[in-house]
Amino acid sequence: MARSKSILTEARQIERAVTLINLGARLQVLESETDLSYERLLRLYKEVAGKSPSKGQLPFSTDWFMTWQPNIHASLFLNMHEYLNKVAALDEIDTVIKAYQLYCEQMQAQGLEPLLSVTRAWRLVKFVDNGMLGMTACSKCGGHFVTHPHEIARHYVCGMCNPPARAGKGKLAGALSVDSGKGKLAGALAVDSGKGKPAGARPADPLRRGAVFPAAGEHLALETGH
Ligand SMILES: [Zn+2]
Repeated sequence: MARSKSILTEARQIERAVTLINLGARLQVLESETDLSYERLLRLYKEVAGKSPSKGQLPFSTDWFMTWQPNIHASLFLNMHEYLNKVAALDEIDTVIKAYQLYCEQMQAQGLEPLLSVTRAWRLVKFVDNGMLGMTACSKCGGHFVTHPHEIARHYVCGMCNPPARAGKGKLAGALSVDSGKGKLAGALAVDSGKGKPAGARPADPLRRGAVFPAAGEHLALETGH
């Protein structure tokens, strides 16, 4: 009995590792999130990705998340992650995977490059977990954005409401902005944090298509069964 259970556990871990590799995760993410040995992960990586994993340190700094466009991308991902965290009973790493897939779908729908890699998305969740980063509501648009933990909310204005001066029209065209997706993005970033609404206002079945981020419309709807 114990034996068959361990095979199932291992199968699940391999499946998870394959999903992460396909999303472009670094080997360190797999090492951290599965119990598979380094040697097996390395073999798996080569088999799935068709190449050796890139070497070198993971990005350890929070700085990247504070720059203009990366901050908006990271915030979009984190809103999805926080929402799934609240409404879906998933393991931690599966929440990261699902939220990252939703983020990629959203980028694809808008014809934009996903600036946030799955490794950075995973790091971001770790940074939030250990209090090195948090989220603050923008005082203008109300969207929730990645900030340092003790940002003063009353004065905080996000990068969408206040793009840097260097962002000319050409640069804005390829950027995530309030206009992206005809304003749907603003809705996605303003996901109800669960504070203002009674619990009963939540959709009964969070995985129902269209139930996630109703304001964001179809692009952010969760697809069940894949
Ligand atoms: Zn704003």
